[in-house]
Amino acid sequence: MREPSGIGRFGEYGGRFVPESLIPACRAIEEAFRDAWADPGFRGELDRLLSVYAGRPTPMTPATNLSAELGVHLLLKREDLAHTGSHKINNVLGQALLARRMGKTRLIAETGAGQHGVATATAAALLGMECTVYMGAKDIERQELNVFRMKMLGAEVVAVHSGSRTLKDACNEAMRQWVSRVEDTHYCLGSVMGPHPYPWMVREFQRVIGEESRGQAASALGAGVPDYVVACIGGGSNAAGTFAGFVGTAARLVGVEAAGGAAMAHGEQGIVHGFRSKVLQDEHGQIAEAHSISAGLDYPGIGPEHAHLGDMGRVRYVTVDDGEVLDAVHRLARSEGILCALESAHAVAWVMRAAGTDELPAGSTVVLTLSGRGDKDMATLMEHTR
Ligand SMILES: *Cc1c(COP(=O)(O)O)cnc(C)c1O
Repeated sequence: MREPSGIGRFGEYGGRFVPESLIPACRAIEEAFRDAWADPGFRGELDRLLSVYAGRPTPMTPATNLSAELGVHLLLKREDLAHTGSHKINNVLGQALLARRMGKTRLIAETGAGQHGVATATAAALLGMECTVYMGAKDIERQELNVFRMKMLGAEVVAVHSGSRTLKDACNEAMRQWVSRVEDTHYCLGSVMGPHPYPWMVREFQRVIGEESRGQAASALGAGVPDYVVACIGGGSNAAGTFAGFVGTAARLVGVEAAGGAAMAHGEQGIVHGFRSKVLQDEHGQIAEAHSISAGLDYPGIGPEHAHLGDMGRVRYVTVDDGEVLDAVHRLARSEGILCALESAHAVAWVMRAAGTDELPAGSTVVLTLSGRGDKDMATLMEHTR
């Protein structure tokens, strides 16, 4: 996985489709990121925080019992054990350090399930910055616990009542607010989406997942690379970070979307939130609503690099439905003692369905990124568990 070409193009996807007033801000971030990423001082400070604060490297756990049941050798990359409970912290610590280096004093963010909001509020507290998080009113209802966590961390949480009152509306609002206060504010985007340089920058900040996994899988398997590498996809950041460690190898890469938010399966080319990609649209070309049991995958688009990797056939994109996801949460909990996030359970559900078929032959070795822990989803699970 390389740098995008031109103005952030991955094939025909990506780009920078934002109001004129945001072009200088995007350019400034691109320049600052390029400079910081080449600076050993910046990299050292980020690595230090990832280690002493966020708990990296996260372990890779062999799923011994489930492997025996499924007939494949399954290794779990444990992003659920990172500070704040998901992979989001990797990207947020990077962007918060970058914002401080650029002289910004305030972070704003959008959030769906609240994990990105919590991670941003956490980094803001650590670095002494102000923080405002935009969240759809519907998500505020379904993710009460994370809303309270953000407030405990000193962030202001603003309810967004427009549209479907979910993640895509929170993105719109965060973008609008950024335009109005770009001098002191950095927009800390939560996935590999948005205008250039975000999809590239966020993938680079998440690359640590794939690089650690590559080494850990090699020791766990004796040598070489796993046959399959699997991750769930909302915007696509945990998958992009994971795949970055394996894209140059022979491993088969599989991205798992929610059936009700499957931009790769059902999306068409369009522009959303500042970039061109595959996007769910209605018959009038309006952005359609995504529906998933997991608020974190309730997004109608997908990162531009994924659209490109899909077109090239380098990554296979598949879908699972809400029922399979609930089964996967329960089965992983009972067999391994790990309660994962509903988002992460999408990847588990695909492995459960495909194991022993031509899609994932018996005896295969599989690395699966478990993107987060399930605590935030307990209320949803209580509703759906008899
Ligand atoms: C936010 C989130 C996701 C989806 O975001 P990506 O950018 O696709 O990784 C997946 N899992 C968890 C636990 C999340 O918090």
